[in-house]
Amino acid sequence: MTRTHKADHQRWLLELTALPTASGREDRVIEWVRRWVNAPSRRRVLTLGADPHGNLTIRRRGARSRKPIYFTAHMDHPAFVVTGVDDDGRVTAEFRGGVGEAYFAGSPVLLHRARGAPVRGRVIGLIKDGAPPAGRLKRYRISLDAKTTAQPGDILTWETGKPRIDGDRLHVPACDDLAGVAAALAALDELVVRRRSRADVRVLLTRAEEIGFIGAIAAARGGTIARGARLVALEASKSFAESPLGAGPIVRVGDLTSTFDPGLTYLVGRVATRLAQEDPSFRWQRKLMPGGTCEATAYQTYGLTATCVCLALGNYHNMNEATQRIDAELIALSDFHHLVRLLVAVGASLDDPKLAPPLRERMESLFAQGRGVLAGQ
Ligand SMILES: [Zn+2]
Repeated sequence: MTRTHKADHQRWLLELTALPTASGREDRVIEWVRRWVNAPSRRRVLTLGADPHGNLTIRRRGARSRKPIYFTAHMDHPAFVVTGVDDDGRVTAEFRGGVGEAYFAGSPVLLHRARGAPVRGRVIGLIKDGAPPAGRLKRYRISLDAKTTAQPGDILTWETGKPRIDGDRLHVPACDDLAGVAAALAALDELVVRRRSRADVRVLLTRAEEIGFIGAIAAARGGTIARGARLVALEASKSFAESPLGAGPIVRVGDLTSTFDPGLTYLVGRVATRLAQEDPSFRWQRKLMPGGTCEATAYQTYGLTATCVCLALGNYHNMNEATQRIDAELIALSDFHHLVRLLVAVGASLDDPKLAPPLRERMESLFAQGRGVLAGQ
């Protein structure tokens, strides 16, 4: 991949990871993607669609294979959505996503209205109004620094300072999963727009993952995804000591809840192995990543073939465990660029018969070679 392409990918990464978004309020990301697809260089090659739930699909115009490869990512990130505006300049907001209760009271936030600069504020605390009914999200009282006209539906994000690059580390408000969105689009651009492959590679961008992959379930229940599709879900997943930042993208064999399609996971691992053989500077990892449950579990549950490739994520869901405070999320830029390389190789070579024999064939050949020892010879 040339330097210019990498510079483009990084620019998209920086733009996307700075966008305010929340489950059900992904409008700004959707608008960014719409503009990206409709750029003059892509407009004739790609087509953007939305399913009835607002999940986006992007594909090569006219593509119609029965076994497309989908790179999927979700467009939301844990954030508040305003539900009520008080007379005294305070707002009530529900939190859509998983963040420990200890991180809320006193933490700084930014209110994003439809227009104008963000307004600073601070979480006062949890509204305790008895046991919430099933499915009701926790609500918080928030004070705003300036008198403003907040509207129900406005997003409040954590205030985590300006995005910054520190060596190989990118510190931004929301890597999860906007870095996945950026990687999916970068790979699609290489494969389809710059014609690196004729394969039917598509992108599916889902909504409302942070409250239980609602958009992915809606897509998996029918209509949105071809039944023979191979799905590679992209995530930013909590880093552990054995899955560090900077050691390359992670071929994820499963998550907290389930394990992914063994055949597809094996083939994606083969693509990564081949890349590393061709270029020793290419790094990758193969891990479980049990820090959470990802959309691949939802796809698999509804009978689709799915696996996951993820980025090791620091300060998962903006929780800095060392300081016990809200902070920017971080990833390694090198992991991001290697992820794009891996996805391009997956798109270009997943159906290459030379990539690897199916697992059953490998077993049969091992058996043929070694069966003699069973006969006691
Ligand atoms: Zn998340």
